[in-house]
Amino acid sequence: MTAKILVRYGEIALKGKNRGQFEQQLLRNLKAAVSYYGGKVERMHGRFMVTGPGQNSDKLIDNLSRVFGVVSVSPVRESALDLEEIKMLASEMAGSIPAGRNSFKIETRRSNKKFPYKSPEISELLGAHLLRLNPALTVNLKQPDFKLSVEIGFSKAYLYLDRVAGPGGLPVGISGRSLLLLSGGIDSPVAGWLAMKRGLFMEALHFHSFPFTSRRSQEKAADLCRRLALYSSKIPLHMISVTAIQKEINANCPEDLAIILLRRMMYRLAEKLSSIRELQALVTGESLGQVASQTLESINVIGQATEMLVLRPLVGLDKREIIDIAVKIDSYETSILPYEDCCTIFQPKSPVTKPKAEIIENHEKSLDIKGLLNEAFESLETTIIKRD
Ligand code: ATP
Ligand code: MG
Repeated sequence: MTAKILVRYGEIALKGKNRGQFEQQLLRNLKAAVSYYGGKVERMHGRFMVTGPGQNSDKLIDNLSRVFGVVSVSPVRESALDLEEIKMLASEMAGSIPAGRNSFKIETRRSNKKFPYKSPEISELLGAHLLRLNPALTVNLKQPDFKLSVEIGFSKAYLYLDRVAGPGGLPVGISGRSLLLLSGGIDSPVAGWLAMKRGLFMEALHFHSFPFTSRRSQEKAADLCRRLALYSSKIPLHMISVTAIQKEINANCPEDLAIILLRRMMYRLAEKLSSIRELQALVTGESLGQVASQTLESINVIGQATEMLVLRPLVGLDKREIIDIAVKIDSYETSILPYEDCCTIFQPKSPVTKPKAEIIENHEKSLDIKGLLNEAFESLETTIIKRD
């Protein structure tokens, strides 16, 4: 049997040209989300219809419900544009509802104004038909046990019972290209997800200190990337070693400034990579007030190492809210695995919380910044993480 899935999209505020771009990008992303499972996508007056092999129905629905821009999806049944046939399908579908769920509502949307009955009439006729067939049923328009929706299209009618929520937002790619600084923690995957939700295509960059950090911590970053890739067709993941940089900082600079100096080097490496990959903004999981490196002074001094736009989507969220999203996008369990991060291994006992730019810049004079950046860049490894 063929699976048919109706896809609804949103962003009510979109008009004119923006709406056209939104729809085109969404169409591309929907195609990418279903092609692996043999799905095809068609436009259908303000909706999309996906058709694919019946045995892949759950996979198709799962992938579609993670495409940003999608508000909801419904598996639908199809009937000819004929009231008697629609009635038959409606009773068959109502018959599949488990016993005990007796109150119902019918909702009709008629895109095809040539169909000889108006929407409220169709709902009434179908409702009366179901009541006649099964006297246990009752109509309840406010809080029905089940809702049967009918869409009168131009060549077919579509009926459905379920609605799976999508993530909303804007289709990935429509807002530009960005680079996520992805650690192994809870915050950065959530920051990346929020940035993708606003239409940014994402590449990710993870810094490691192999052999001081284990291969497992790199695999953890790749695992997190895999979670995010479920919301995008692919995420190129870059890895750079900062071992030599950390050694130089530790040999030449005060311990309490080590994290700030390392972060500034990370931003410089991210900028260099962005110019090669044509990425327009950095995205980080920084938020205010959690740790020493996240005071306003620290964020500012770290940010001054780059001229790039730095987006920090978590700045308005509480830890609880961040964790809720991490659980929802299934990154939390991976994030809390106890593999060390490069920032934790040379962690100073008491990092400076209000760094001064001049002092930091002075210490940087004792480092061969350009040489260190070039050396670190030679360790660059890239893998493309795909959704399927
Ligand atoms: P996270 O939970 O994302 O690790 P955090 O609360 O631990 O964040 P910090 O350790 O201050 O905060 O890191 C702030 C941000 O710097 C991270 O969210 C991430 O964007 C970036 N970052 C930190 N360490 C790394 C790393 N090893 N590789 C790439 N980016 C990193
Ligand atoms: Mg961290």
